[in-house]
Amino acid sequence: MKKDPVCGMEVAETTKYTSAYQGQTFFFCTSRCKESFEQNPGMYLTSPDANSKEGRKMAVVGAGQVGSTFAFALMISGLASSIALIDRNPKHAEGHVMDLNHGLPFVQPSRIYPGTYSDCEGADIVVVTAGAPQKPGESRLDLVQKNTEIFKEVIPEIVRHNPRVLLIVSNPVDVLTYVTLKVSGYPMNRVMGSGTVLDTARFRSLLGIHCTVDPRNVHAYIVGEHGDNEVPVWSQVNIGGMPFSEYCALCEGGCPSEQRDDIFVQVKNAAYEIIDRKGYTNFAIALALVKIAGAIFRDENSVLTVSTLLDDYYGISDVCLSIPVIVNRQGVFRQLRLSVDESEAERLRASAGVLQEILQNLQL
Ligand code: NAD
Repeated sequence: MKKDPVCGMEVAETTKYTSAYQGQTFFFCTSRCKESFEQNPGMYLTSPDANSKEGRKMAVVGAGQVGSTFAFALMISGLASSIALIDRNPKHAEGHVMDLNHGLPFVQPSRIYPGTYSDCEGADIVVVTAGAPQKPGESRLDLVQKNTEIFKEVIPEIVRHNPRVLLIVSNPVDVLTYVTLKVSGYPMNRVMGSGTVLDTARFRSLLGIHCTVDPRNVHAYIVGEHGDNEVPVWSQVNIGGMPFSEYCALCEGGCPSEQRDDIFVQVKNAAYEIIDRKGYTNFAIALALVKIAGAIFRDENSVLTVSTLLDDYYGISDVCLSIPVIVNRQGVFRQLRLSVDESEAERLRASAGVLQEILQNLQL
């Protein structure tokens, strides 16, 4: 077996997708990987120092609330060497760029500029936040038609310039991650959705408050759809290695099931509650995106619940959903089979069923 230098997948030497470069033959899993390689072999044959900021190129498509706040958080993090902001309203992107640049004396150097799709060339990551946001009372799935049409226009423009990894944020994120895979022709590991990284953070944060423990020591996952059908994996919650049920026994009030239900409802409805009050969500999603970008830029092998294409995961195939995944420079390096109990597996399958019905109607 050989390793596809673009997506990192193992590939048989009998594959029809091969390319000769500098006297060596390279093997690819798809025609898309072969094309990507031939456009820019150097990008796939060099392995930059994981600690160096050199060449960490980011493009953000959609400079609205989420895109601009992400650019701000990324700039503060010092992770990127350059950030291009691309929007169908270029003046809007320009305004954000001016404002962000005025803060550069206070942070590590990076180049922040208003971009066009050609700035996706050689980008390590393109984050896509373009599209309509939820209005008060609207669900994420209500956005499907509008945002699928936008994606059919935007994704071909991006992939023409062959960036390495596409990180989808616009909602409904699982559907649009699947649309991106289909429209781009990219292999599955180079496309991921921000998925339930944010919901998992909300879950850990609320459990941390409830259990009076640092949320970084709460290990818990929200999986499935980023939306109304998401699934809390209660059976695997642990506090510093102690199963949640045993930890609960330590607390004076115990933890009746209504309290657990209440925590999950707060997680699931967080976006509705925030949008009702301020019209949009931006801060926590921006930090979630910085976390994912860091895992890719720094080749971290971090476990994150991003949305990824499933193939026989608890019987679920051909749909993008969030599960714990190892994320590194290749994008999705490995999907992890989380131990869930039968009722959780059933909820996960139900979550997939809702999305599969929508995808069928989209006729991609
Ligand atoms: P916003 O309206 O503030 O920004 C959207 C931006 O996209 C606008 O600047 C708009 O001009 C731009 N845009 C629209 N069509 C475009 C096109 N064809 N090409 C280029 N740019 C285009 O919205 P927002 O609050 O930033 O939210 C953006 C998306 O992110 C929404 O779909 C929202 O639901 C989603 N979101 C996802 C999460 C998550 O966890 N996945 C969290 C928050 C928001």
